[in-house]
Formats: sequence, structure tokens, C-alpha cells
Amino acid sequence: MHNDAKKKNNDAQIQDEKAREREMVQYAIVQEQKQAAAAQLKQKQAAAVAAPQAPSSKKACGVCTYLNNSSHKNCEMCGMPLPLQGGGSYNEYLTNKYSFKQMDAM
Ligand SMILES: [Zn+2]
Repeated sequence: MHNDAKKKNNDAQIQDEKAREREMVQYAIVQEQKQAAAAQLKQKQAAAVAAPQAPSSKKACGVCTYLNNSSHKNCEMCGMPLPLQGGGSYNEYLTNKYSFKQMDAM
């Protein structure tokens, strides 16, 4: 009876160790996955940094949306002043359009 209890205790210990081993393996797998994900993210970020910016050789006119050469200060089509920086985002385009509308109203 005494021995039986001891054996059970031993079994429980073995089970415990096995469970811990599984946990360790799982932990290692999770760590590996995390590292892989982090590496992937780093690669993506590096690629994003290394990727050449879209050539902003064209500037969209805020009024008629004509794509002017970036060296032009005024729109070739309507003569309106072009945004100073780059081709402009859509927001920039809207801002320009809005401000020009305001100018027209005045
Ligand atoms: Zn224009």
C-alpha cells in the first residue's frame, strides 16, 4: 500500500515532467514564430525604406487635375499655381481645390 502510493507519486512526477517538456516545446515554437514574424516585419520595413519613392516628376493641377511637369510653377492648362511639393496626395488635391474655390468666391 505504501509502495503503491509511492508509485503513483512517481507516475504523477513523470506526467508532470512530460507536461513541462511539452510546454517547453510549445514555448520554443511560439518564440520561433514570433521571431519569424519579427524578421518578416523587418524585411517588409526594410523593403519599404529601400523602395524608391514613386517618381514625382508630375504635379497634378489642383483645379483641372492636369499632370504638369514638376518644374512648372503654374498649370500648363489653366495657369493656376501648382502645389510646391510633389504630385500631392488626394488630400492635398482636395485642399487645393477647396482653396481655389474660395478664391473664386472672393
Ligand atoms: Zn490646371
